Amino acid sequence: MIDLHLHTTASDGTLDPKALVRRAFSAGIRALSVTDHDTMAGVSLADQEATSLGVEFVSGIEITAVLNGADVHILGYFLHPAPHLLASFLEKQREDRLRRARKICKSLELLKMSINIENLITEAEKNNQVITRPVLAKALLKAGYVKTEREAFGRWIGDGCPAYVQRQGSSPEEVVKVISKAGGVSVLAHPGLLRKDQLIPRLVQAGLVGLEVHHPQHNERQRTHYFELAKKNLLIASGGSDYHGDNHHNAKCLGVVGTPRKEFLALRERLNKMHGVVS
Ligand code: AMP
Ligand code: MN
Ligand code: MN
Ligand code: MN
Repeated sequence: MIDLHLHTTASDGTLDPKALVRRAFSAGIRALSVTDHDTMAGVSLADQEATSLGVEFVSGIEITAVLNGADVHILGYFLHPAPHLLASFLEKQREDRLRRARKICKSLELLKMSINIENLITEAEKNNQVITRPVLAKALLKAGYVKTEREAFGRWIGDGCPAYVQRQGSSPEEVVKVISKAGGVSVLAHPGLLRKDQLIPRLVQAGLVGLEVHHPQHNERQRTHYFELAKKNLLIASGGSDYHGDNHHNAKCLGVVGTPRKEFLALRERLNKMHGVVS
């Protein structure tokens, strides 16, 4: 099994990079990519553990782009963890995460739900972890304002909720171009959750190479639909479990949902065509 979509404690996953790789290995995964939100902080430890287990490793990331105020997730693969251009781009992404988290907490305060955001930021920085909305959901739960993290998203911080704050950031096209410039290839994450198919041709123009056809939250009909769209646009039909930990609803898909080997090889071929390197 090949899984190209996994999260660690560097973003909103519950396992640290080494533990994540061991967990994936025990689920039968033999090639994987770690794709944390807007950070590659987990990549090198995961790579070390994968190498020691004989698991093929692909460096990765899931970058949040913004289109008309809505988040668009773009997966990047075969990136070097710290090329200058990418490092400064990601730094800006994370700065916006802080701006947004502080603003969400201001709204929550007006709603009589106080969270000490500065403490959360200090704690996250100590652990080299980026701030994500799940951190805020956990804080709301801990403070007793909600009974579950799901409720935190559903009532307060999810898209369109009273304390929802839009992201600010690069367009999906710009993110695809940044990934290409940094020597990688990009894939549109879970297009079935995004529901913006009209965006795909524009992204292909910008250099997109794949569509995440196989994803736990895609039903059979969506899988078929995106497989056909990938074929039509000469895109690679990749996939992964989007695993965040065993307590997360995607956990049952670890070792089950992934990228077919043929598509994985095609992804590498595309990388070679674009950048002339074997990674
Ligand atoms: P952020 O990038 O900070 O907006 O956080 C987005 C992350 O929150 C996603 O990658 C999911 O892991 C998580 N998430 C988004 N919506 C929900 C939801 N309704 N319930 C639980 N987790 C969610
Ligand atoms: Mn996530
Ligand atoms: Mn995503
Ligand atoms: Mn993800």
